[in-house]
Amino acid sequence: DDDVELLQGHETDADGTYLMPALPVLAIVGRPNVGKSALVNRIIGRREAVVEDTPGVTRDRVSYKAEWGGRWFTLVDTGGWEPDAKGIDRSVAQQAEVAIELADAVLFVVDANVGATATDERVVPMLRQSDKPVILAANKVDDAVQEPNAAVLWSLGLGEPRPVSAVHGRGVADLLDHIMTQLPDVSKVAKEEYGGPRRVAILGRPNVGKSSLLNKAAGEERVVVNPLAGTTRDPIDEQVELGGHIWRFVDTAGIRRKVHLQQGADFYASLRTTAALEKAEVAVVVIDVIEPIGVQDVRIVDLVLESGRALVLAFNKWDELGDERRWQLEREIEQDLAHVAWAPRVNISAKTGRHLEKLVPALLTSLESWDTRIPTGKFNAFLAELTQEFPHPLRGGKQPRILFGTQAQSRPPTFVLFTTGFLDPGYRRFIQRRLREMYGFVGSPIVVNMRVRE
Ligand code: GDP
Repeated sequence: DDDVELLQGHETDADGTYLMPALPVLAIVGRPNVGKSALVNRIIGRREAVVEDTPGVTRDRVSYKAEWGGRWFTLVDTGGWEPDAKGIDRSVAQQAEVAIELADAVLFVVDANVGATATDERVVPMLRQSDKPVILAANKVDDAVQEPNAAVLWSLGLGEPRPVSAVHGRGVADLLDHIMTQLPDVSKVAKEEYGGPRRVAILGRPNVGKSSLLNKAAGEERVVVNPLAGTTRDPIDEQVELGGHIWRFVDTAGIRRKVHLQQGADFYASLRTTAALEKAEVAVVVIDVIEPIGVQDVRIVDLVLESGRALVLAFNKWDELGDERRWQLEREIEQDLAHVAWAPRVNISAKTGRHLEKLVPALLTSLESWDTRIPTGKFNAFLAELTQEFPHPLRGGKQPRILFGTQAQSRPPTFVLFTTGFLDPGYRRFIQRRLREMYGFVGSPIVVNMRVRE
């Protein structure tokens, strides 16, 4: 399987955890019939045709793993949009915009025998203005006689046209050599991925019950799973089996070792929180139900939001919760944690072990949301319906419009809207709310970004 191949040469811990660096991403753009698919197949070394061929805006971009000269990269074919009523121009422009958004470099394919068409000309300024390297492939140059056709494409202002024949393979090696000089070693846009057990950070202010929770979850006999790491390095991770899954609790030394810092305790606590979040995929923020929810709790929750990690809220010491305090608590949650109302809540007692088992479904749900990918077609259907029903309010006689959108990333789901003019922050929040109503995203932050077309 592809992933196994990719892992060769990457470090794997004894316990099977590994970090998969994000491969650099090359996106391929071009109008229909220029030979993109042939070139894709040539690059990935396969002869099979396009993966799927459904008419309409249904086929999403397709990613392939490719290798050249011992270096791996991700090749993304953004050509999934069939031209709609508004035509080829628009679908190629959309490809280009998405490619610029999610790639480290863009491969723009032109049919050298036809020359640059109006459609090609239309995307050229977008490519030229992008801050990504653009490689211009002049395809269908099957022999030396046709080379002058490629040279004409210098006029596009995208640098040297590189003559290739996707069908015959001519020039493809040189093209790939050049592409490799344009791609970074590690992607600047894609994210690295952890393999192995999912990584959980237990966070919360002092004395909320973090170490009690960890001990209860881990079982007393597993207090220090890896003594070696504990003595040599500060942060230790512990592997714990819970609910039939292995979890990796990250950076647990900071929980186990009680540091009683007088001055700057907040500062160090937030440093630790940030460091743990860096390594984690999901955070359990432990809140002490006996104490009023305070700025410190909210600050930790906000650090999770900033980090873009999935979130579970664990309300601890439930065994000590009286009726009166319970009402107060509900009000505090409504007031101070309204902005994370989408996070799953578990009411637990680390001391008695009450409902600790509920932590697992909550973690799984949050991670599933965090991993979610909405296909471009579905997302645009959602946007079309939303903007039809609730158009952006007029502003100074003008109306900013959403041209289309795509989910550029998962972990957390990150959407990009291509618009004419800036959307009001209120309208963006409205879109976020609607997205949650539609797809849930329980336990995961979601991000909606805008790219305003000049
Ligand atoms: P940490 O600083 O967040 O790691 O908190 P600790 O786990 O050290 O807990 C702080 C105090 O709260 C200790 O005295 C614990 O015994 C107590 N504690 C932790 N969890 C619970 C719980 O669920 N119920 C009750 N009643 N006490 C708890």
